[in-house]
Amino acid sequence: MNLTLAAKDGRNQPRDEGLAESPLAVRGLTVSYGEKPAVFSVDATFRVGAMTAIIGPNGAGKSTLLKAALGIVRPLSGQVTCYGKPLAKQRGRIAYVPQRASVDWDFPTRVLDVVLMGLYRRLGLLRRVTTRQMQTALACLDRVGMSDFADRQIGQLSGGQQQRVFLARALAQGADLYLLDEPFAGVDAATEKAIIAVLKELKAQGKTVVAVHHDLSTVPEYFDRVFLINTSRIAEGTVEEAFTEAHLHEAYGGRLATAQMSVAG
Ligand code: ADP
Ligand code: MG
Repeated sequence: MNLTLAAKDGRNQPRDEGLAESPLAVRGLTVSYGEKPAVFSVDATFRVGAMTAIIGPNGAGKSTLLKAALGIVRPLSGQVTCYGKPLAKQRGRIAYVPQRASVDWDFPTRVLDVVLMGLYRRLGLLRRVTTRQMQTALACLDRVGMSDFADRQIGQLSGGQQQRVFLARALAQGADLYLLDEPFAGVDAATEKAIIAVLKELKAQGKTVVAVHHDLSTVPEYFDRVFLINTSRIAEGTVEEAFTEAHLHEAYGGRLATAQMSVAG
């Protein structure tokens, strides 16, 4: 009985099963900023049409994993494929919303222009924005409840409002894969609800969502799958398979008390 189950849930399958269809897969990914690796020999196969949470303690390498997968930081070793092909050929299919704290708007930029940036890959930097593209950008702002703010300066918005605008920019790209780094960090409850609603809409359209997530209490409600990391991969699977006390203990170690409280609460 157990053997049959183990075979069915994929643990006994060949290592590269699903690689060709996976919107994002990494193999043997190691990234180091100094002597100690931030991400060590990680395999991950994110599933198409799923919402996956990347979880793990502070400094576990969650952001680094995303950045290396996107080619923003260069790995020491490892392969990244996007829909079975090298990343370079698939960039247009990926939208990335970085951790908000890492974005610093030191020059005045209009909200609408931030969203239009999502269209530049198609637009070409120097071409004029068409009416249709303007409408697309406005529609994306509308989806995140920010159309009234189109003419405002991004720097004047609250953290939650800025995060919605970054999500609107990602939507404007019309990507198939959405990578978000702590989209709910420092946002108000209304924004969190608005963002999760949009992400669930994307999933309903068959898009793939991968988000670094720090609030363990909302993992089962928001996500289908979990990728648990602490420099190395701890677990990957459905919430039921991967989001277990044993795996959390392995990932969070001494910090488990806090983690468990969040799970319970
Ligand atoms: P997480 O997102 O899980 O909190 P990070 O990927 O940001 O973790 O960081 C993983 C490790 O790499 C940490 O020890 C962090 O201090 C280090 N690190 C991250 N970015 C840099 C950087 N640009 N230069 C040097 N070390 C970094
Ligand atoms: Mg991070």
